[in-house]
Amino acid sequence: MFNTPNPYNLKHLANMPEHCPVCNQNYFPEVGFYWGAMYVSYFLTVGFSAINVVLIGLLFGWNLWYLVFGNAAILLLSNPIFYRYARVLWLQLNTHFSKEEFDKAKVLTP
Ligand SMILES: [Zn+2]
Repeated sequence: MFNTPNPYNLKHLANMPEHCPVCNQNYFPEVGFYWGAMYVSYFLTVGFSAINVVLIGLLFGWNLWYLVFGNAAILLLSNPIFYRYARVLWLQLNTHFSKEEFDKAKVLTP
């Protein structure tokens, strides 16, 4: 779904083709479509933070500064991955894909 497979190539983090090269799905159905991906990103990172805080607490003790800055560091490092997953999930939530229709269209078009 992205031009570069490595999300840590930050210069090209958000570069996407207009359409899917395999099924021709429009990746930009409307202007500002991916603003909604912020909500997906929010829920993903809040859940991830809860797991991080518990793991940091269990491994390094329940010191507030360890929890806050440890989680902040992990979120900073994982940001490109969540950014892309949020876009993929947002598109998935808002578009319809049918394997049968896709196969039928493939047979009809050379
Ligand atoms: Zn596709």
